[in-house]
Amino acid sequence: MSENDVIPHDHRFCSSLEDIGFQTPAANGLVARAALLNAAFWGRGVKLRVSFLDGAPELHRRVAALAQAWPQETGANFSFEFWIGNGLDPAGADIRVAFQPGIGSFSRLGRFAQAVDRRERTMNLGWMTMALPEDEARAVVLHEFGHALGLVHEHMNPARPIDWNKEKVRQDLRASQGWSDDKIDANMFHRYDPGQIFGTDVDAASIMMYPILPSWTRNGFAAGFNTVLSEADKALIRKAYGLRPVFGG
Ligand SMILES: [Zn+2]
Repeated sequence: MSENDVIPHDHRFCSSLEDIGFQTPAANGLVARAALLNAAFWGRGVKLRVSFLDGAPELHRRVAALAQAWPQETGANFSFEFWIGNGLDPAGADIRVAFQPGIGSFSRLGRFAQAVDRRERTMNLGWMTMALPEDEARAVVLHEFGHALGLVHEHMNPARPIDWNKEKVRQDLRASQGWSDDKIDANMFHRYDPGQIFGTDVDAASIMMYPILPSWTRNGFAAGFNTVLSEADKALIRKAYGLRPVFGG
């Protein structure tokens, strides 16, 4: 086994599917079909207010600075308004971020956040700290805010289905993430129906892509640990939200 053929033992995978109720749709009033960009879309021009339920202000500022790459690098027609030390009740925000360790990182998809009790988080950044290296911090923040904008996991994009070596994937993720086979199947092998998503061809460089080892597929498809927005990520968000109008001049 080569060095490139193992998941770093400390690599952590987002588990948003479980949180949005894909496996237990009845439990939180969502249906499985709902886990898609089309249905989760907030609408053009939306201003998303973001609050924090715990964590220190310097950590809030670190998250905010990283997440702003989404509007800044895309020029798309939406904005984030971070509530840091403004005295407002966090319950009034659209996206409510918690930092509870030990339960992973995940986010509600897009406007499905509106189905969450106002006192509850809509996003958890379970391993985000001030000590987390910059590329890992950027990766998890951009990924989870991608979900908050309505993006789904890129490996579930039906445009060009991934030819999985399922037994190898299950074996590795049982060992590295401690996931059950049911959780692995739901998080890795579910594919959206083409009519349910707004998307492009499968993009191995997407911030919404999981790292995929060459041994996990039967046709050589692989993806690395992506830590920045890909050109296709930016183009997709621009296409969905439209271009931000330029005033004045
Ligand atoms: Zn995710």
